[in-house]
Amino acid sequence: MSSLLVTGIGQLVTNDPALGDGSSLGVVTSAALVVEGGHVAWAGPMVSAPAADSSYDVGGRSVVPGFVDSHSHLVFAGDRSEEFAARMSGTPYSAGGIRTTVAATRAATDEQLAANVARHVAEMRRQGTTTVEIKSGYGLTVHDEARALAIAAQATDETTFLGAHVVPPEYADDPGGYVDLVTGPMLEACAPHARWIDVFCETGAFSADQARAVLAAGRAAGLQGRLHANQLGPGPGVQLACELGLTAVDHCTYLSDCDVDALASSGTVATLLPGVEFSTRSPYPDARGLIDAGVRVAVATDCNPGSSYTSSMPLCVALAVREMRMTPAEALLAATRGGAAALGRTEVGHLAAGARADLVVLDAPSYVHLAYRPGVPIVREVLVGGTAPL
Ligand SMILES: [Zn+2]
Repeated sequence: MSSLLVTGIGQLVTNDPALGDGSSLGVVTSAALVVEGGHVAWAGPMVSAPAADSSYDVGGRSVVPGFVDSHSHLVFAGDRSEEFAARMSGTPYSAGGIRTTVAATRAATDEQLAANVARHVAEMRRQGTTTVEIKSGYGLTVHDEARALAIAAQATDETTFLGAHVVPPEYADDPGGYVDLVTGPMLEACAPHARWIDVFCETGAFSADQARAVLAAGRAAGLQGRLHANQLGPGPGVQLACELGLTAVDHCTYLSDCDVDALASSGTVATLLPGVEFSTRSPYPDARGLIDAGVRVAVATDCNPGSSYTSSMPLCVALAVREMRMTPAEALLAATRGGAAALGRTEVGHLAAGARADLVVLDAPSYVHLAYRPGVPIVREVLVGGTAPL
């Protein structure tokens, strides 16, 4: 097995407090890293680097772990730029806009949907994302949800069945009947292609009781649960996620003190999606309060055509810092190790020995530039599983 020495790293973020400066980011200056068999075999100071079969000098640049985007909705068709423009002119965002994308997605061919997913995953990769979760949720029929997940599974192992996104128009008068469909034939058709099951638990979408029923059915079918909750207003979703011990609960924009306490005393990761607040001109979640309370947080894009059409984790890091008062270190950790925790993954989101060699070379001397230079394409190279530089 051949090994590659990545050397000349001005600043290496390992996310391992046992390495380097002892901070949560485990920052090593003048660093090097050895990749073998797709994984990190060694990381540390350049002066003590072991020999390797070949070497690659990154010229003093900063290297960070690949981003783990733990929340996206990439299987869709259509465009909602006019809805965005209207929103920026004062029309409020509501969950019902999802139905616009449902109509376009149902009308698209498998090839069109697969091409759209591939294009967005490539766009994410160029911006440093090396692990991405992809949800269904714009099909909302047995056939359309199953094909959405089969297409998502071509791009990632982290696929999520979100049949309970909204009640589709044909079930407008029978939401209970739709929940029966989701927990019955739709789940049966989707489970083979999915790792997770998710519910949009929100006024205008699904109640706590409906969410509980969907998550229970998913668990019985071998899927792990996660939730969209407390995005548009206060609600029961966060408490439900903590009670059920879900891996992650996403949005967490409107939280009571009890919600924060429940998160702090559970192992559930709070995934914050600041692209949504940016794109809907809404108040941001209180990331500072969550972190200070001891809640584990992740930052992700929620890339979707309605409420957050950004695929950029660097933008979300910048928003987390500027708008949610996270430090640059906290934001980077949330976008890497936090995202990994939100997916129950231990081999991604960090660069200590044993991790998958997913690394991002920044055209910058420090990771702080991710927030300091918003909107600037500072991602120079992305290695996935130690794939040799292009
Ligand atoms: Zn979402």
